[in-house]
Amino acid sequence: MFDKILVANRGEIACRVIRTARRMGIATVAVYSEADAGAMHVAMADEAVLLGPAAARESYLDAGKVIAAATATGAQAVHPGYGFLSENAEFAEACAAAGIVFIGPPVHAIQVMGSKAASKRLMGEAGVPMVPGYHGDDQSGAALEKAAAEIGFPVLVKASAGGGGKGMRIVNEAGELAEALAGARREAKAAFGDDRLLVEKYLTRPRHVEVQVFGDRHGNVVHLFERDCSIQRRHQKVVEEAPAPGLTAEARAHVGAAGVAAAKAVAYVGAGTVEFLYEDGRFYFIEMNTRLQVEHPVTEMITGLDLVEWQLRVAAGQELPLRQEEIRRRGHAFEARVYAEDPTRGFLPSTGRLRHLRPPAEGVHVRVDTGVREGDAVTVHYDPMIAKLVVWDETRDAALRRLRSALAAYQVVGVSTNIGFLQAIASHPVFAAGEVDTGFIERHGALLSPAAEPVPDTVLAVAALSVMVERAREVERVARRSGDPFSPWHAAAGWRLNDDNHHDLAFRDGDRRVAVTVHYRAEGWLLDLPERRVAAKAEAEGDGRLAVELDGTRRGATVVRVGEELNLFVDGRAWRLLLDDPAARAAAHEMAGGGLTAPMPGKVVQVIATRGAVVERGAPLLILEAMKMEHTIKAPANGTVREIHFRAGDQVPEGAELLEFEVAED
Ligand code: ADP
Repeated sequence: MFDKILVANRGEIACRVIRTARRMGIATVAVYSEADAGAMHVAMADEAVLLGPAAARESYLDAGKVIAAATATGAQAVHPGYGFLSENAEFAEACAAAGIVFIGPPVHAIQVMGSKAASKRLMGEAGVPMVPGYHGDDQSGAALEKAAAEIGFPVLVKASAGGGGKGMRIVNEAGELAEALAGARREAKAAFGDDRLLVEKYLTRPRHVEVQVFGDRHGNVVHLFERDCSIQRRHQKVVEEAPAPGLTAEARAHVGAAGVAAAKAVAYVGAGTVEFLYEDGRFYFIEMNTRLQVEHPVTEMITGLDLVEWQLRVAAGQELPLRQEEIRRRGHAFEARVYAEDPTRGFLPSTGRLRHLRPPAEGVHVRVDTGVREGDAVTVHYDPMIAKLVVWDETRDAALRRLRSALAAYQVVGVSTNIGFLQAIASHPVFAAGEVDTGFIERHGALLSPAAEPVPDTVLAVAALSVMVERAREVERVARRSGDPFSPWHAAAGWRLNDDNHHDLAFRDGDRRVAVTVHYRAEGWLLDLPERRVAAKAEAEGDGRLAVELDGTRRGATVVRVGEELNLFVDGRAWRLLLDDPAARAAAHEMAGGGLTAPMPGKVVQVIATRGAVVERGAPLLILEAMKMEHTIKAPANGTVREIHFRAGDQVPEGAELLEFEVAED
């Protein structure tokens, strides 16, 4: 076994690998970029080496620098995690050349499986069932169009080098194909430096079922059961579970065997995942990922095994610790990916500092894999995942209940998150019934999208009480500082200075303004809320926690105030209200001009609109690439493009005014 390994990654996966290495008595070396100098994975490792600037290309993706760091620190092996260099065959080769063990499969397997087209050809030969498609070398528009026509619409265009759903386009009819091919090529080129595409039949209601496989250098290959990853948004996994719900024993055995057959066909060594689509009782191979998968913890939860430990053992030349028949599963596990993103703005990544971060308590049933701590920043440079929330219990129902309560306990302030969205999925009756398929999120979009429902009275009451408690404390502080025991400010509790003994507060809930009148009573307050009047008491308990009593019912709440913004965690849900302050509102109004601004930092890929163009609402004006995805900036209304401030290729900061747009008066 190795004495020291280097972890060529960041975030939660780097932390997760370090944890296992530590348990096994293996020293760890972290690598980091300038942006990550204070990151959790750096703090956790025994040693850390600075690679370079924030941009991944100049740090985490720079194979030469990573190998130099391993050599300099005497690391005997490199664990690449997922993403970055994990499926880079040249990197694996360069490691070998430098006498360092690459903790992953042989170069040949990475090469074949790294190309969706090549892997499909090989799997076809090995008799693994596949979606009908074109995986050929002729990449001309004519060849792809002909293939699409033969396959029959709808078809799916994919980047051959693809991953993470990037470069993927659904094409419903021939007329849409040319544009889809151009967009997919651009996205594939930007994300993978390779613009080759493949076209295949688009299945309309598949499930995504994948098999965790493991091989060693002694010819053993086993599977560790399957995972269902059908809950996806834009082809990216959001919630995963193991085992796949509702499979018959035969189907389960069949897909496990198909996974093993696929792995054997490439003489696979190490951890890998063979992905299938499952529709009408049939499995279709889509790709193999030659690395540890993001969602591997659900497999660990049901098997009780540590997959990173297995990876290290195999890389060190040992045999697999268990034979197929010795691998057991128990219970059910879910993983929910908690992202810093804003569901109300098309799930755009949300950057900022994590001012308040309270994950649910960990234990046998709950595991939180994270790479950030309170005070850390989510930046534009890397994936905006905050954590993977993993739960386990004896049955799917019980595990789902765990998932719901763990999500309800998760508190994040400083960035927007998808927690409310995950809660909506976890509470959905169709999901609870295990009736999942990859179209689930799209089909139930309305139910799952952030509720436009007005903030409930209970939450408003908590907001008002938190403001009152804070003001009372402020008054006390002033009095204490004044040093005058007879100061009228000392009458803090009753605020008797106020003639008519009440106080008007107002909050902004999105576009709505809500007023709350607070009357002082000898015992606490009386609140006039939009729907009712309640008697209330409140007491601060520190760390933002507030013990609240409304009409005799006590409940705990947490309120984290950032300027005028109140972040409220009440009854397992998060709400954000603004304390309505006229001065702050005027300032905000001034900021909102008539321009269209960049929702995040990025690069202008294409300017579609021309100066002076009269366009209809929704017309695409400009394409921005940010975080390796393309975002189309559309006309917010019918109107005229007055000015365009950037050209294709320009880099734009967040909030930059991209175009001046004049809304037509009709
Ligand atoms: P990536 O490597 O970019 O993640 P995959 O080939 O693994 O791409 O596919 C990701 C997801 O896209 C699948 O889980 C599925 O939801 C969808 N998908 C892929 N191929 C098809 C297909 N032929 N028909 C329908 N959906 C598909």
